[in-house]
Amino acid sequence: MSLTVENIKKTKSNLNYPSQLFINGKYQKSISEKSFENISPIDGSIVNQVFFAEQEDIDLAVSKAKETFNKGYWSNLSPGERKKILLKFAILLERDRLELSLLDTIDMGKTINDTYNADLPTSIDNIEWYAEIIDKLFDDISPSSKEYLGLITKEPIGVVAAIVPWNYPLWMAIWKIAPALITGNSVILKPAEQSPMSAIKIGALLSEAGVPDGVFSVLPGDGPITGKSLCLHNDIDCVAFTGSGEVGKLVLQYSGQSNMKRVQLECGGKSPNIIFADCDDLDRAAEASAYAIFGNQGEVCSAGSRLIIQKDIEKDFINKVVQLSKKMQPSDPLNPDSFAGAIVNTEQLEKINKYVNIGKKEGADIEVGGNITMKETGGCYFEPTIFKNVKNNMKIAQEEIFGPVLTTLAFSDFNEAVSIANDSEYGLAAGVWTNDINKAIRASREIRAGTVYINNYEEGVDSTIPLGGYKQSGIGRDNGAQALENYLQVKSTWVKIT
Ligand code: NAD
Repeated sequence: MSLTVENIKKTKSNLNYPSQLFINGKYQKSISEKSFENISPIDGSIVNQVFFAEQEDIDLAVSKAKETFNKGYWSNLSPGERKKILLKFAILLERDRLELSLLDTIDMGKTINDTYNADLPTSIDNIEWYAEIIDKLFDDISPSSKEYLGLITKEPIGVVAAIVPWNYPLWMAIWKIAPALITGNSVILKPAEQSPMSAIKIGALLSEAGVPDGVFSVLPGDGPITGKSLCLHNDIDCVAFTGSGEVGKLVLQYSGQSNMKRVQLECGGKSPNIIFADCDDLDRAAEASAYAIFGNQGEVCSAGSRLIIQKDIEKDFINKVVQLSKKMQPSDPLNPDSFAGAIVNTEQLEKINKYVNIGKKEGADIEVGGNITMKETGGCYFEPTIFKNVKNNMKIAQEEIFGPVLTTLAFSDFNEAVSIANDSEYGLAAGVWTNDINKAIRASREIRAGTVYINNYEEGVDSTIPLGGYKQSGIGRDNGAQALENYLQVKSTWVKIT
């Protein structure tokens, strides 16, 4: 189905808005029947009431997950058998692509173009990639003495809770559940309270693909109750978390307070994007830099939110980005031609606005934007905003705003650029633009970040390369073969040969 106005209208008019928990292969209300209002930031309308998972629901889902894991219905299948089921799941996502795209767009306000043409295809690719790799990996035999056979094998860790954010609702969920399921674990998914619907919907799709009942559950709810109870549960073996650093630190504490479960964290960022004057295509660099902060309304963990420009070209380069920002204004998320959509909710909108005011008070100057916009829609929208004359010790250069707000800083030489880049509690990503290969490689080696993009910003990202953070951007990696390690135990077996 192509992304036309007619197809969007038709699919939307027949759309079911999922609202229930998914436990043991079926949808059900929460035991207390408690629910929460699910509001669309597109126009502030109430979409539906979503059931809220509390302790009793969590206990039920965890006991089913543990039981199915111990009985081996999924964990003992061969990798090849699990592969077939996940490949079928990928086909079902393609079948329901527009419906899932609409659920995410309505839930969190990003454009239908993004959900349909980026989030869904990349989610499908991620599932296929993990399904295809799993039966091509081998365990090891140790180079021990001849009297012994030393086997180093990998086993699923058990019950995994995946706790995910709202900025790419389906995609972030798939980053956790594809590698966790393919390695044989049981998985409980807790979507963000702002964007529960696509997560709930995939419960039925995984069942339809052939995942046995109990192996996969979805528990909508909030962080302090549902998320915290999952993290403290003694029968959960691993929490795979994507979200803010603040909550990431709590997740580590909950692990220590309970069963020392494994914790994998993908947290925030304040990523530097360095433009050297010798970059030979400053137009392309400007376009990528604008996209790196205004794409997805700036609600991107690895957004290039600190643009660090060599002094000789600072003024011209900022001008280029300002001109581009004018074409990146928000508009109706359901229009397939819109570049940017709504901010996820009023709290996030107020947070962005608060940071813009802080930036002004700190002495930075607004070059463009700086305002809440499209108020007449009843939704949450913010103009692409660029600050100049920013100092790296200002709050707007140190703290994650998670909105379309770009801070620009200037540097004189290589060492100063790297020093500004590294002067951050975060270390998720960085961009480097230069025509000098030696300078590019040196920068990549010296910048303390999980990913460095050279002469691009996030352009070629696919499932093959791991993504994750240094410093307070996280622990562990999503994507690539490395992500499988999050969900596997290493077993050493010593065999005495007589
Ligand atoms: P958040 O930390 O508020 O929430 C993330 C998830 O944690 C949600 O499901 C929430 O319900 C849950 N949660 C909240 N409090 C909890 C608690 N006390 N115990 C357990 N779970 C709890 O983050 P958010 O606002 O949803 O997402 C934005 C953040 O996510 C940003 O900081 C962004 O950088 C980060 N992020 C990181 C990556 C990455 O790959 N590094 C990707 C996307 C988003």
